[in-house]
Amino acid sequence: MAGYNTLSKEQLNEELVKLKEEYAKILESDISLDMSRGKPGEDQLNLSMGMMNVLDGNSDYKTTVGFDCRNYGLLDGIPEAKQMMADIMEVSPENVIVFGNASLNIMYDTVSRSFTHGVLGETPWCKLDKVKWLCPVPGYDRHFSITEFFGVEMINVPMNEDGPDMDMVEKLVSEDEAIKGIWCVPKYANPTGVAYSDEVVRRFAALKPAAKDFRIFWDNAYAIHHLYEDESKQEKILNILEECEKAGNPDMVYEFASTSKVSFPGSGVAAMATSKANIAFIKKQMGIQTIGYDKINQLRHVKFFKDFDGVKAHMMKHAALLRPKFDAVLSMLDKELKDAEIAAWTKPQGGYFISLDVMEGCAKKVVSMCKDAGMILTGAGATYPYGKDPKDSNIRIAPSYATPEDLVKASKILIVCTKIATIEKMLEA
Ligand code: PMP
Repeated sequence: MAGYNTLSKEQLNEELVKLKEEYAKILESDISLDMSRGKPGEDQLNLSMGMMNVLDGNSDYKTTVGFDCRNYGLLDGIPEAKQMMADIMEVSPENVIVFGNASLNIMYDTVSRSFTHGVLGETPWCKLDKVKWLCPVPGYDRHFSITEFFGVEMINVPMNEDGPDMDMVEKLVSEDEAIKGIWCVPKYANPTGVAYSDEVVRRFAALKPAAKDFRIFWDNAYAIHHLYEDESKQEKILNILEECEKAGNPDMVYEFASTSKVSFPGSGVAAMATSKANIAFIKKQMGIQTIGYDKINQLRHVKFFKDFDGVKAHMMKHAALLRPKFDAVLSMLDKELKDAEIAAWTKPQGGYFISLDVMEGCAKKVVSMCKDAGMILTGAGATYPYGKDPKDSNIRIAPSYATPEDLVKASKILIVCTKIATIEKMLEA
């Protein structure tokens, strides 16, 4: 099949008839597939079941410093969990606070605290007329939901192949004091898979924001989530905390990470890494919120993984299960969609997503046709603030949960729907 652009109206119509026949057959078959959320598959969850055996009624619940994890105390985490999370983020344990079961609520609390109590002595954001935020797009829908919930005005920043458009970021933050933050997923970004280049990280660290309380929300959710064992295929990014310190902006960044997609989503360990000044400020609020998080879960994690080498080896087991799933989708797209020259997609080296850009004005239609055929995709537009993709073209594919066989079927449906929606749009023009 030649590129659709080279086809006459008659040829496009002929192709459309064939595709609609295929779609009708798909509608008749009883399909139920879900590629909407980046959830680990059951086989991945099984990898961590050994964690359930490292502690029982006869175990020693003391930390390396002799602290009894069964009791109150250690507000910011047990030392060995701090070390584990520090290793994941490549920072020093002194810069780490271990929180609860997941990182999204640390991000929520961080925004919330800034609204009610300000940032390091600055005016609480709730007292300001306007709070604005930079949102590299496409991005993570739940980030955008947090800032939307607080009534923040979100500004789209385009993503390039090496990170957000830094010319735009630098200009906006230096000119507008109302801009208080930016959402970043610096490695294997959700959904583009992009890793920020050294230059981008350095430019972030050297920002000169008009707002003293501007913060980079560096959500390193996929820090160790490589798809390949070969180190040359593993993305490495510069350490943002170090770079901010070197650039004289030590307090400008909050880094987040969790073991949600290392052990169990919703029952993992989550942490923040930031400057000592920020840590002291945050701990004051933490101490009001809680007497301490779930230390038994922290202990279970460190006993199971043993050390960072253990964590890395575990991630390679995840990679071995995830790779065939990404390959299933990517090889179908290459085989059955590429020649039509109507879409572009990412080939990530890690993370949980493939980002597909279809022809402008077609994403919603594709997603809804897939839904009618029994296949759930992340809602079109979800990868943009307010759920509004200005071009209606981005679709996030999450291949982790289904089996490779189902992913081949799902990709087929996605491809047929993409082709139909595109031809119909072309014929409209
Ligand atoms: N950040 C990003 C970029 C994610 O993709 C996800 C999960 N989809 C999360 C955070 C959620 O992490 P947690 O489970 O630690 O809240």
